[in-house]
Amino acid sequence: MSDEIAIVGAGIVGLAIAFHLQRDGNRVRLIERGGVAEGASFGNAGAFAFTDILPLASPGILRKAPKWLMDPLGPLAIPPACLPNIAPWLLRFWRASLPDRYRHSMEVQGRLMAYAADSMTTMVAEAGLADHVRSNGNLELYESEAELAASMAGWQARERAGIGFEHVRGARLAELQPGLSPRFVAGTFTPGWKSVADPYLFALALFDAVMQRGGAIARGEVVAVEPAGEGVTLRLADGTTLAARQAVIAGGAWSRPLAKRLGDAIPLETERGYNTTLPPGAFDLKRQVTFGGHGFVVTPLSTGIRVGGAVELGGLKLPPNFARSAAMLTKAAAFLPGLRTDGGKQWIGFRPSLPDSLPAIGASRASPRIFYAFGHGHLGLTQSAATGRLVADLATGRTPGIDPSPFRPDRF
Ligand SMILES: Cc1cc2nc3c(=O)[nH]c(=O)nc-3n(C[C@H](O)[C@H](O)[C@H](O)COP(=O)(O)OP(=O)(O)OC[C@H]3O[C@@H](n4cnc5c(N)ncnc54)[C@H](O)[C@@H]3O)c2cc1C
Repeated sequence: MSDEIAIVGAGIVGLAIAFHLQRDGNRVRLIERGGVAEGASFGNAGAFAFTDILPLASPGILRKAPKWLMDPLGPLAIPPACLPNIAPWLLRFWRASLPDRYRHSMEVQGRLMAYAADSMTTMVAEAGLADHVRSNGNLELYESEAELAASMAGWQARERAGIGFEHVRGARLAELQPGLSPRFVAGTFTPGWKSVADPYLFALALFDAVMQRGGAIARGEVVAVEPAGEGVTLRLADGTTLAARQAVIAGGAWSRPLAKRLGDAIPLETERGYNTTLPPGAFDLKRQVTFGGHGFVVTPLSTGIRVGGAVELGGLKLPPNFARSAAMLTKAAAFLPGLRTDGGKQWIGFRPSLPDSLPAIGASRASPRIFYAFGHGHLGLTQSAATGRLVADLATGRTPGIDPSPFRPDRF
């Protein structure tokens, strides 16, 4: 039997798991059917959103959803052909947003985020990634005092969780981000929010660190992960097999069929997101800026200015609708007068999302040697190091640093 631990998927989550398993002295092999970090981890907004503890499944989203759905290119879309498939997930999402469950998810998310910040700091230092990280915070913007007032319950919840922030107006707002449209009358600055210079380059640097520590990678599509005696067998689409001591399924939005073959029906869907990356210098952006009422952010990267977000519950197969990228860019040009919108590259990414806004991290039903680590939705980059640490604890039988039970894959 091989003494390796196999990790299906070389996105940011699989890479962070590999790094943490190596810290414990394990040999690891990533198995990736495409390029390293070319899934959702390639083109996301690059935020370590440690202060973002409010679950998406919330009473607030349910209030906003009808208005958002009216706009075909707005922040939330459900292509009609996809409605029957997504309906069970939506029902679970609605249940997760009921007050008791919402409060529970927020508490759990708060603990996971504190662990995520600590784990990321350690991983960044040990893997030599400090040059990729920027500590310039996030500025959320409001078009009216009423919009700010409507967000207050969320800020109070963050205050209770010990998260620092500052509501700003006038000169302070202009100092944090000069050149904003006057339609924005107020903002909230969260200094504890960090960003990476570019999420793809960050993931590649982590991959290099894993390879330097003796990691291996196999190219191919895993079609089944099966218990086999004291170990695990992975079957690839080309007919070959790989043997491992343990396996972790970290295939992002594509993980569901592998779990299903192991007897776990996990309600994983994808929230498709879109963006446009403009050339560097398209705007003098001081930090990531969030237009919460419009469901998108603008991020300064070393590789350009990225404008994007939105949620399209459109499954894995529907062709991309890049009119969504264009719609957000048009709005961004109005919100940041002078933004140069030419020369951009459009992108679609598949967020791996569970209905209660929490990831699935834990052992499969079929074998204590096969683990799941997927479903991080909007927060996979932020929570990657924490997930790696938790998986390493579970794989070695150590008591994890935080209670893993809220992330149990069989909780649904
Ligand atoms: C527009 C947008 C903005 C975002 N912004 C942020 C942000 O600012 N901060 C943040 O924290 N998160 C953000 N996210 C979310 C984040 O990108 C994801 O949560 C994260 O990248 C998920 O990482 P992953 O490794 O699980 O999945 P992925 O990066 O998708 O990686 C999964 C990998 O597994 C491989 N794979 C799948 N199945 C198989 C198989 N059977 N065999 C072999 N290989 C397989 C795939 O090819 C892929 O490379 C954003 C997402 C989008 C779409």
